[in-house]
Amino acid sequence: MVYFVGAGSGAPDLITVRGQQLLRKADVVIYAGSLVNPELLKNCRPDAIIRDSAKMTLDDVLTQIWEAENAGWITVRLHTGDPSIYGAIREQIDALKKAGIAYEICPGVSSMSAAAAALSAEYTLPEVSQTVIISRIAGRTPVPERESLENIAKIGATLVLFLSAGFTQAVQERLLSGAYTEETPCAIVYKASWPEEKVLRGKLGGLAQMASENGIEKTALIVVGDVLGDDYALSKLYDEHFSTGYRDAKE
Ligand code: SAH
Repeated sequence: MVYFVGAGSGAPDLITVRGQQLLRKADVVIYAGSLVNPELLKNCRPDAIIRDSAKMTLDDVLTQIWEAENAGWITVRLHTGDPSIYGAIREQIDALKKAGIAYEICPGVSSMSAAAAALSAEYTLPEVSQTVIISRIAGRTPVPERESLENIAKIGATLVLFLSAGFTQAVQERLLSGAYTEETPCAIVYKASWPEEKVLRGKLGGLAQMASENGIEKTALIVVGDVLGDDYALSKLYDEHFSTGYRDAKE
């Protein structure tokens, strides 16, 4: 049995209770060493086999899993944040399906949630933006042309960019060609929820400078959008003039 477990964004107590329980019972743990906090491995059994996937290929990972399966063991594949976001789990899942190996996925706290917490931000503010776009700048992994930063910038929604902190000049230029302006609020959150977390706030026109002045090139999210500004409307959910399924409007 294989469990894909979201390790959370970094702080070792941001793994889910279920994820922690799975770590405790695993015979084999294959963790993404580039971003998973090694503190989490303290939950593992002393006799568990622990491997860092940072130095492994897909085939290496699958070989480890086959070996564990043949021995009748439980494998935890520990991915950073939530495995559904840039987790490279689909290729593993398809290989497991082909081999008839049972698996389950345990979600995790994504770094985008930890970044919002660090920023005290709500990504979806009434009358500002009701849409969050998760994306990245094209790197070695290409991005389909229709999803280029220039194109998604035209929507003007809240934007959370992963895997892009090393390319802030290009991010800034491309986003400015869409619906954002030099004045659009933006932030960089470095190592959200880790002890070395840094939260930088600024305007899109100064994004690249903010990154270079603070020496940030990786393990950071770029958040862009007017939800980081001061103006918004109050929610309808808690508006005293609106009835909901749970309470009546006040006269
Ligand atoms: N599945 C992960 C993302 C993996 S992609 C998640 O849900 O968070 C790796 C990218 O995620 C990094 O390049 C960086 O952009 C971002 N990232 C991961 N952990 C982070 C953290 N603690 N703080 C800020 N960004 C982080």
